Amino acid sequence: MFAYICQTCGTQHEPSQNPPSFCAICQDPRQYIGHQGQLWTTLEEMKGNFYNAITQEEDHIFGIRTHPDFGIGQRCLLIQTDEGNVLWDCISYIDEQTVTRIEDLGGISYIAISHPHFYSSCFEWSQKFGSKVFLSNDDQTWITRKPINLELWKDKIHLSPSISLVQLGGHFPGSCVLVWDKGQDHKGILFSSDTIQVGKDRKSLSSMYSYPNYVPLGTKQINQIKNKILKYSFDRIYGAFEGDVIYNDASNILGSSLQNYINQILDH
Ligand SMILES: [Zn+2]
Ligand SMILES: [Zn+2]
Repeated sequence: MFAYICQTCGTQHEPSQNPPSFCAICQDPRQYIGHQGQLWTTLEEMKGNFYNAITQEEDHIFGIRTHPDFGIGQRCLLIQTDEGNVLWDCISYIDEQTVTRIEDLGGISYIAISHPHFYSSCFEWSQKFGSKVFLSNDDQTWITRKPINLELWKDKIHLSPSISLVQLGGHFPGSCVLVWDKGQDHKGILFSSDTIQVGKDRKSLSSMYSYPNYVPLGTKQINQIKNKILKYSFDRIYGAFEGDVIYNDASNILGSSLQNYINQILDH
């Protein structure tokens, strides 16, 4: 029995004798089946061909990314706090070197994932570190390998006094962000992932139903995202991919970017 991993989205499935017949996440209109067709691998097969690079982004924040690129190519982020370390989002690959390095950084108490595209190998990560996993109740049908210590949540939840998860919806019904009040010397940091993506110019943000297939969200959902998130205070935003960071004035940039999106849709 092997826990097969979809090579296009990087999601690990429940162990089975043969590869699953399809990946539900890639068949969904928000994703796609790779140009070579549905391909599977396993962690056992990946070992020796991949490694994870762990780089410090700033005090108490580390990015973890697999090389060469695998799946969607996101990097997850380790946030070190006095109340326990949090892994925001997850990746498919994990090996003993990654575990040793992260244990040196204090391990992982909580794993929180923005949406199903990044569920990846959260089962394996939570097993290695004994972490509790927080996934949105509204996206639970997309869980392909259920973590043992899973907590399903809705609307808003505090992982610790200074870290909360906020459900914004849009990309997926349960799409969420992480707000760290104490980050950036208490100015606040927003971890927005695919829920609100940082533009490649690092001066704009956007949110879509499907990023790879260019399907937008309507104004009602963009307004809902904007109104919900602007109640929180933050000055910096980390997006889903390496280098996608808006270091200052991020709250204002988010507000004006989403207003610009609405104006474009309404043809103003
Ligand atoms: Zn897939
Ligand atoms: Zn996504």
